[in-house]
Amino acid sequence: MPSQEKFKQLLAEHKSNNPKSMELFEKSKLIAPGGVHSPVRAFSGIGEQPIFFESADGARVCSVDGKGYIDFCQSFGPLILGHRDPSVAAAVAEVSEKIWTVGACEPYSVELGEFMVERIPFLERVRFVCSGTEAVMSALRVARGATGRRKVVKFNGCYNGHADNLLVAAGSGLAGESASSSAGVPQDSVQHTLVADLDDQEGFAEIIETHGSDIAAVIIEPLPANYGLLPQREDFLRIVAEKTKACGALLIFDEVISGFRIAFGGMAAATGIPPDLVTYGKIIGGGFPVGSYGGKEKWMRTVAPEGKVYQAGTLAANPLGMVAGLATLKKMVKTNIWAVLAERTKQFAKNCNMLFEKYEVPMNCVQKGSLFWFGDVRESPIRHPDKITAWQRSWFPVFFHAALKQGVYFAPSAYEVGFMSLAHDDAILDEAIVSIEKALQEIHE
Ligand SMILES: *Cc1c(COP(=O)(O)O)cnc(C)c1O
Repeated sequence: MPSQEKFKQLLAEHKSNNPKSMELFEKSKLIAPGGVHSPVRAFSGIGEQPIFFESADGARVCSVDGKGYIDFCQSFGPLILGHRDPSVAAAVAEVSEKIWTVGACEPYSVELGEFMVERIPFLERVRFVCSGTEAVMSALRVARGATGRRKVVKFNGCYNGHADNLLVAAGSGLAGESASSSAGVPQDSVQHTLVADLDDQEGFAEIIETHGSDIAAVIIEPLPANYGLLPQREDFLRIVAEKTKACGALLIFDEVISGFRIAFGGMAAATGIPPDLVTYGKIIGGGFPVGSYGGKEKWMRTVAPEGKVYQAGTLAANPLGMVAGLATLKKMVKTNIWAVLAERTKQFAKNCNMLFEKYEVPMNCVQKGSLFWFGDVRESPIRHPDKITAWQRSWFPVFFHAALKQGVYFAPSAYEVGFMSLAHDDAILDEAIVSIEKALQEIHE
């Protein structure tokens, strides 16, 4: 285990090497809660001294202190082509000369919607919103509206955005019972949310048996990637899908991360399990705030103005986001990005694992498509968040800062995954591996 002394030393160096970031954080703390606009950005749990980035290009970001980093966070996933990809930049520049937002019908969402619907068989209708959270909230409303039922099942270890009724932890006692996990969310708001465990068929079956006739929807990240990377057995996903449909509930795949990233049609396409409804976000806006939900026509017809499930948005289907998303998806198809990134990420993970062996670090770089995550090798494969070890959680902050010092930026939390982009070419990845080795040398010598 790297020593606490080493961590303190790295943190002290980090502070003195990044004076402008430190100063901005002090100012920011006076205007925003915790100095940030989304919690993980505060580097909580890894020293609480965030870096401020002022520019970005391709695989790299640059801090206000003028230091460049290879960025494996990529805004937590939207930037699968890297920062400011030229083809996306051109599309956005062209449209920004013509229109920003109109709050009326426009051609851009038709084009993006068509591009998706033509390629994803179960996606018969789609509605654009402004974030993943909004997409999930709306999909659940559709499921409840369409079935007339109250309960939803979510999985412990999946993040489905911050809607009230999804901010839950497993409760004690009865199967599936949940408890609010955030202040400001009264127990009443989560009384219809049931929590199931990943990789636990029997537990899921019990919930369905007990509550089946009152369940409107089961929502799952088919590739859980918000609490570490927890690839599920395909059998488990299949059983969840079967039992969900058998009890008359709708199956919602939350593909806000995995959509377009694992395959064009996300995990649904990769596994051949079609959900009733799906939610997308991140990649679909090409770096702009876009989310979407959709699925079978039968369910989507319940949405206003066609049906009685109300859902609306002033900036929904924003033209800039629509063209950025379409340019991103088009380039992904043209470059067959899935094969390219899976191969690069696999090689990168292999190289990381060779280094972990060399420096006798009990870590394992897990990879799935263009996602990767550092988990404890002694527990792998990790399919459930409870298997994430205390060792991993205390190792990561030291590793993070050692890597940062060498110019490599990972998502700033032991639980967040790494994102590969098309801009991470072989030369950049070789450079990253050299830097990661230096980081490991420093902390495990
Ligand atoms: C990021 C994410 C969300 C929330 O999306 P926001 O755009 O941050 O609101 C929901 N579900 C999953 C699976 C996500 O990864």
